[in-house]
Amino acid sequence: MQGNDDRVVLTRRGFLGALSALGLSGLLAGCGGGSSSATSTGGGGSYQPDLSRFAPNYAANLTLYHWPALPVRVYFANDLTVTPQGGSPTRVNDLILTGFGRWPAATGGVVGYTQVTDPGQAQITVSTVAIPDPTGLSETGKTSVTPGAGNVLISATTQIYVWPDITVPELTQGLLATASHEFGHALGIGGHSPDPNDVMYVSHDPNADVPLSARDVNTIKTIYYFLFP
Ligand SMILES: [Zn+2]
Repeated sequence: MQGNDDRVVLTRRGFLGALSALGLSGLLAGCGGGSSSATSTGGGGSYQPDLSRFAPNYAANLTLYHWPALPVRVYFANDLTVTPQGGSPTRVNDLILTGFGRWPAATGGVVGYTQVTDPGQAQITVSTVAIPDPTGLSETGKTSVTPGAGNVLISATTQIYVWPDITVPELTQGLLATASHEFGHALGIGGHSPDPNDVMYVSHDPNADVPLSARDVNTIKTIYYFLFP
């Protein structure tokens, strides 16, 4: 694996399963060269994160995006209930919210979200997508962000994938890691950690959950440094 290549061989039936691909849509051109330390206005002032203030972190590996203010507004476009092989019906959005909620839990509620029911109020739109079969698939989730000037985020969309023969560990463990990872992208982590112990590493075992590491938490604090006086 190299750089931000989103493919790695995972365990289940040999399918290629990286955790996600991060897509960008919109306006990278003309926004100041894309430097992660570019001066911008976000939250009313100059945006200049100090990459060494919350250490260790992997912010130097990333393009740093940020929402101008938090909590960010999250809208769920659907609400699927999935029954894994040999398991019981499980509401996917509950699992997704568990994964998302790790970021506010680890930051004293600072890096948080509110759930909205009006799609017109959405900043991050989340949907669960039923795919036919993960075999050959290169990802278990996908997040696309639309940044404006200074890499301030305008909108983001996150997809979490499920499939008909999903297993209990894939649904109840792996999906938590996927949701947590994708929300990291939606919050502004543009890229991946080089350390496989971090939830923002490019790929994980689809049967296993991955908690936020200290490096994950320090990285999001670096991005939202202006909320941590
Ligand atoms: Zn990713």
